[in-house]
Amino acid sequence: MQTQTCYTYELDDTDRIVEVDEPWLCFAADNDAADLTRERVVGAPVHDFIAGWTLSSHYARLYKSLRHRGAAVTVPFRCDAPDMRRHMELDLLPRNEGRIHCRGRLLRSEPRPRIPLLDRRTRRNGEWLVTCSLCRQMKMPDNNWREVEEALTEPYAEPLSGLPQLSHDLCPDCDRLMQGLIEAG
Ligand SMILES: [Zn+2]
Repeated sequence: MQTQTCYTYELDDTDRIVEVDEPWLCFAADNDAADLTRERVVGAPVHDFIAGWTLSSHYARLYKSLRHRGAAVTVPFRCDAPDMRRHMELDLLPRNEGRIHCRGRLLRSEPRPRIPLLDRRTRRNGEWLVTCSLCRQMKMPDNNWREVEEALTEPYAEPLSGLPQLSHDLCPDCDRLMQGLIEAG
């Protein structure tokens, strides 16, 4: 399948962002992170921009493992907007001096009716729901993980009392995937 490079950024040997391109900044702005300017991003630890402690700690181990073995890996992920599912991949390419070049690619996007839960501007009611940082499935009370449209009884409703806040973790499948990438080679 032909895929399109969306954005690139590069990390130094301490996981700090040393280069970021304009498309990455636009992409972040598209996802409502409008305060991400080049000045704010360059020099900052990449972990500041990874959703959730679990994924961030897996990435820290993955970067270390990549620097050690020098081989590229690809991490599949979703970067959804409230009205769009975006299936993406992130290529991580080790370079000299412990640098890691990161290249985000859009595989495909699917428009969908707007999901207020995923919109940062939506009023929140103080409750919490857990979403997977990589595949964006939601954790159910029975510990299964489902797409947001299946997880909510009324996914398109926006009650005046607000909707829950989202916290980030990894579902068991994505956790296994990251462990596998860390341990490969
Ligand atoms: Zn997942």
